[in-house]
Formats: sequence, structure tokens, C-alpha cells
Amino acid sequence: MSYLVQNYNRKKLSFKIGKGSYLFTTNGVKYLDFVQGIAVNSLGHANPNLVKVINDQSKKLWHVSNAFIIPEGEILAKKIVEKTFASSVMFQNSGTEATEAAIKIARRYFYSKGKPEKNRIICIKNSFHGRTIAAIYASGSKKMIEGFGPKVQGFDHFNFGDHKTLKNLINKKTAAIMVETIMGEGGIKVIPDWCLKGLRQLCTKKKILLIMDEVQSGIGRTGDFFAFEKSKIKPDIVPIAKGIGGGFPIGAVLMTKKISSAMIPGSHGSTFGGNPLAMKIGSKVIDIISNKNFLYKVKKKSNYFHAELNKIKDQYPNLIKEVRGRGFLIGLQLFKDQSKFIDALMKNKLLTIKAADNVIRILPPLNVKKSEINVALKIIKKVCYKFTK
Ligand SMILES: *Cc1c(COP(=O)(O)O)cnc(C)c1O
Repeated sequence: MSYLVQNYNRKKLSFKIGKGSYLFTTNGVKYLDFVQGIAVNSLGHANPNLVKVINDQSKKLWHVSNAFIIPEGEILAKKIVEKTFASSVMFQNSGTEATEAAIKIARRYFYSKGKPEKNRIICIKNSFHGRTIAAIYASGSKKMIEGFGPKVQGFDHFNFGDHKTLKNLINKKTAAIMVETIMGEGGIKVIPDWCLKGLRQLCTKKKILLIMDEVQSGIGRTGDFFAFEKSKIKPDIVPIAKGIGGGFPIGAVLMTKKISSAMIPGSHGSTFGGNPLAMKIGSKVIDIISNKNFLYKVKKKSNYFHAELNKIKDQYPNLIKEVRGRGFLIGLQLFKDQSKFIDALMKNKLLTIKAADNVIRILPPLNVKKSEINVALKIIKKVCYKFTK
């Protein structure tokens, strides 16, 4: 009997302790965790650096209102600005709050320019921007909006890769295009670099804003600090969350200077967003992940993982359709439903998670060891063998 609302389809498994790449159940059974809270624990479980920061800061100050200056937030914002396209940061607590705020900011920007009619946002159909009322309508997924009407106006959709429809959707009411650089929940679909470049050119030409949702793909997950950096484009607004707190809930919206000027005092706020404890943790995560050598190692280790997974794919061409993604945002696409495969991996003590399109999402911590990747590969091979026997 559970007193929790049953809004999740949970595996019958629970954990007591986490250490690095591993989780230990309440009975002490060890699992290799390549879910990591869905790309949240970017530095693994109970990272000693983060434990120390939490311990130290918890004795000093947890939370103060944004009615006061919060130096810890000023420091984290500066660090983020120094490493990215952005010139200002607004802190939230989660991904959906960050995407929701990104939508608000885009609209507010045109409002401040005397063009309040420019308020529509173009999104990819069946993308994922979170679960608030606006975000589910932005995502354009039938399943997510079911029962939550009336419809929230202001979103137009095109299918992934349908450039013609995208271009046709842009009109004088359009404020922005919002896309995930790599569609996470949608099945680890990567927007190719040439498309990102085209998207940037299109937005500049039409004088609309480009919002890149990096909630899942950002903060080193792909081996670049942001996934869009590989294509050398600069977006206007970027919501982030998942990886930046290393397991502590933090969200943020990054933006350029011209856009932040629209957000005047009182235009947006958050009670919890940007509190000193969260900011101290975020600062430590950024210090570690934005280090060039750290990111180089993410690229190197993840390239190895992709290459080995592709070898397995070649060995089982009737089972595995494609190895998708970049860095440690990996999708293993099967030809048929992946649920049983995920359960079999779990039986063999490797945790992975579903995405759309028959995709198994593999999300190791960014500081995973090569030996741990090898353990995962061995389990994946074993399950492939079993599935084709
Ligand atoms: C997870 C996710 C969100 C929502 O984040 P929450 O913290 O669950 O609200 C938004 N956008 C993308 C791309 C995500 O992966």
C-alpha cells in the first residue's frame, strides 16, 4: 500500500546508498547506474567535492529571499557568463521552470519593444520541455496534454526535420523558435550542425529569437559545455537544469544582454530559485565540469563507448537499429519495443532508461571510469546474445 499518487510507472527496486557510478539497494545489491537520475547526477552519486560543499554551506546559510543580494548567486552567474554565450542568468529550481521562464522572457522581450503581438513560439512536435501547463503545450505531445485542457495558446509545431513547415509557420506573430539541441525524451535525436546553423540564420533573418533547451544536453553531457557549441552557433535564450546541480535541484535561464533588459524588477520571480545552498553546489559543479581537461576526457571516454556500442550493433544487426546521440547522452535504438531489454539489463545489474522511438537511454555520470563502461558493455553484449538466441 502506497500513499503516494500513482503518477509514475516505477520499477520494483529501491536504493539506500549511491557511490559514484553505483547504486546499492536496501538489501545491499550493487547496480551500475547509467541513469543517474536522468542525466542529473553529472558527477555521480555522493561526489566527495559536492558532499564537502553541502556540509560547509549547510552550516552557514541555506536560504534567503531574493529580496536581498545573494553573493553566492552572483558568483555562479559570473562563472556561467564567463564560459558561455550569455551575459545574464536567472535562477530557477527545475527544467520546466527554466523553459517556462524562457517562453516568458521571449514574449516579454518583444513586449518591451512595443510588439506585444509577437508572442508565438514555434516548437518541434513531440519534443520535451517539461510538465507545467505551458511546457506541455509547447512540447506538442498528445499524451502529455491529455485531460489538462483548455489548450494553452501560442505554440506552433513542426515535425523534426520538416524545414518547409518550419519556414511556413514563421509570421509576424512569431517571437521565437524553441528546440532541444538533442531531443532527450523524444529518442536522443540530434539536430545536425548544419540544421542548427540554418536555424540560427533563419532566426536572425526573421528577427526572432532562438531558444535552445539544453536542460538534458547541457553542462558537459555531450563533451562540450553546451551541445550547440559544436556547431558554433550562439542562441539568444538557453534554459538549463538537470546536470548543473549534480543532483541538487537547480534550474536557470541564460540570455544575451539585449534580452535581459526586458526583465525589469517584478517581471518574474522565484521563492526558492538561486538560494545560497543551491548556488554553492552549482558553482562547484561548474568548476569541475567546465575544466577543459574534464570535457576532453568526457569526449574521449564517450567516443570509446559509442565505438564499442557500434561494434555490438554490427554484431546484432537485427536487434539494434542505431546507436544515437553524442557524448554521454546515448541512445540505443532497437527494432522493437525496448522495455524487456531494459528489464534484462536491470536483471544483470545495469540501469538504463526508456526514451521514445524504441530507444534505451544510457546516461553515465560524466566522470565514469573506462572500466565501468567496460562492465556496461559486457552486460549489454550478454543481453543482446540472450535476445537473439
Ligand atoms: C527534463 C527536461 C525538462 C524538464 O525538467 P524538469 O526538471 O523535469 O522540470 C525540460 N526540457 C528538457 C529538454 C528536459 O530533458
